Order: sequence, then structure tokens, then C-alpha cells
Amino acid sequence: MFNFLKYLLNNHLLTAIILMIFFVHSPVMAQYKINTIVIDAGHGGKDSGAIGKKAYEKDIALSIALKLGNYIETKLKGIKVIYTRKTDKFIELFKRAEIANKNNAQVFISIHVNSVASPKPTGTSTFVMGIHKSDDNLEVAQRENSVILKEKSYKKNYKGFDPNSPESYITLSLLQNAHLEQSLLFAKKVQDQFKNRAGRKSRGVKQAGLVVLWNATMPAILVETGFISNHSEEKFLRTDYGQSIIASAIFRAFRDYKNEIEKNSKFIPSNNKNSSNQNYTYTKTETNVIFKIQIKSSTGIIPSKSKQFKGLKNVEKIKYKGIYKYYVGNTGDFKKIVKLQAEVRKKIPDAFVVAFKKGERISINQALKEIGRR
Ligand SMILES: [Zn+2]
Repeated sequence: MFNFLKYLLNNHLLTAIILMIFFVHSPVMAQYKINTIVIDAGHGGKDSGAIGKKAYEKDIALSIALKLGNYIETKLKGIKVIYTRKTDKFIELFKRAEIANKNNAQVFISIHVNSVASPKPTGTSTFVMGIHKSDDNLEVAQRENSVILKEKSYKKNYKGFDPNSPESYITLSLLQNAHLEQSLLFAKKVQDQFKNRAGRKSRGVKQAGLVVLWNATMPAILVETGFISNHSEEKFLRTDYGQSIIASAIFRAFRDYKNEIEKNSKFIPSNNKNSSNQNYTYTKTETNVIFKIQIKSSTGIIPSKSKQFKGLKNVEKIKYKGIYKYYVGNTGDFKKIVKLQAEVRKKIPDAFVVAFKKGERISINQALKEIGRR
């Protein structure tokens, strides 16, 4: 009897080990996991950010960032938290997303406090990279981007981007965040938490050309946690209590976002090269940079003849990290793709250019570097 037990145990152990090896080595079973987040406390050092009656934006942002990181580290297992700064120091905007890119973070979150000339406006908002739909949103972007004027070689580092020129924002909209839908999903969760759980006023999810998010190659959001220009919000944001309320709301949003993305991507190869779409063209162009126009994305399948595609032909479907994305165009020529984008935008105004290398999504900036245009 004892021998039999021993036999069973051994065999099951063996089965378990074989299964484990199979699961670990089988690319089909690999599950997409969010395991690294970069938390960016806005401003710092010589850049105080917006100034209230008693507080600086940089100090409030840092306190909330550290609290948020602490919640994630203590409450979620296996998540690596990386901070762009943990002290009062100046960091150039382009370096912040670079830290996230270098560490292969799957989420980038930048924390700020809003400010306007009037003391009246209140409320929280979360921004993702995109085209501003109102002057208010453009104003926020201009204020947050103006920081780069304090940087020594900003002209070189931001390829001539001028935070005060409206034309610069049009150019920036070409470089829209390739992870728009995930960024929007995360942003919405943050605003829902602020409104429904933290009891803060929500001004909603917004889009604008924010330089700090520009180069991030992962879902990225910028949270305006309230108005330092409003007396009661400044007072709230200065307190340990207020900062904890804000940080825990963002924490819950991150936890829910992580769960949802990981659930949706179950059993989808983390490397999408051989995934659901046979028309996928990377095999032919393995080493090259390829540009496409993303026209739609959805958690469910959109039939190829759907009116949503506005009659566009040769729409490609790729399932990636739990979300179906639809593309047209396939070229290594950036000029061609920009031309095509202009055409496609007549039918689908928010279509945008994305770039791939060896089947992996890369930022447009990275792509332009690769093809020697930068
Ligand atoms: Zn700021």
C-alpha cells in the first residue's frame, strides 16, 4: 500500500512537472501578464509645476506617486514598480517615457495637479495621447509641455517641437499613441474610481498632445488629480488623507485594468507573430519596419463587411493582448503611409499610423529612427 502511494505520488509529480514544462515552453499557452509599471511624479527640482497658495505641484505629485507605488508593491504580488523620481529632482520629459521603454513596462502613469487662472474650476481628469477636442485640453497640454523650455537641448530632443505652436500639436497628432484603446480603458477606470469610490468630481477622460506620453511604447496616461488653483482642492491635496484617497483610487483602477487585460488575453500568444490572422504579412518583411493605419479596435470581432469600416478594402485583423485591432495599409515608406492616413481619415477621422518591427509594435519615433529618418 505504501509503495503504491509512493508510486502514485511520484507519477503525479512527474505529470505535474511535465505539464509545467509544457506550459512554460508552449508559446500558445503563454499568457500576457502585466508585471512592470512606471510611476512618474510630474515636474521636480527647478521645475515646481503649478503653484498654489501654499503648495507646489511637484511635491503633491511626488507624494501621491510614492503612495500609489507603495499600494501596488504591498497589495499586488509580482509587480515591479519603477519610479522616474523618488526625490525632488529635475528630469527631462523625454527621459520619463524612456525609463518605461527601457524597463519594458506595460503601463506608464504620470501624476500631476491641474491649474488655471480662475480659482473656480475643480475636479480630476485623466489624459491619454491624442488630438485635443477642446481648447481646455490644449491648454492643459501646453502648460504641461511648457516644462521642456526649461531643458537645455529641448530643440534637439523634441525634434523642433514648440509647446506654444498649434502647428506642433497637429504634427504630434500624427504620432498618436499606438496603445490608444488600452490607455483609454485604463483612463476610464481611473476616472470611475475618482467619481464613484473616492467622491471626487470627474471632468472625464481627455485626449491631448502630451509630450511626456509621446514616446511611451505602452499604454500611458496622465492624471490631473485636482486643481491647485482652487482653494479647497489645494487644501485636500496637501493632506496625507487627500493624497491617500487619490493614490488608492488610482491603485484600484490599475488593479482592475490589470485583471481585465490579463483575463482577455488568456491563451493568446504574447508574441503575436503567429496569432489569429493568416493574412498577417510579417513573415515576408521580418527585418523591416512596417507602417500600417489602425482604423478600429474592439474586444469583440467586427465582421469584415461591417459598415464600421466605411467600405475600406483589405482590412487586416490582428488579435493582440486581448483586443482585436483592424488595420489598412502595409508599407515601409513613411511618406506613403502619411498620405494614406489622410485618405483614410476622410472616412475614419481618428485612424492613425502605427509601426511594427519583426511583428512587434514599436513607437513611430523608434520606427523613423530605424529607417533613418531621424
Ligand atoms: Zn504638471
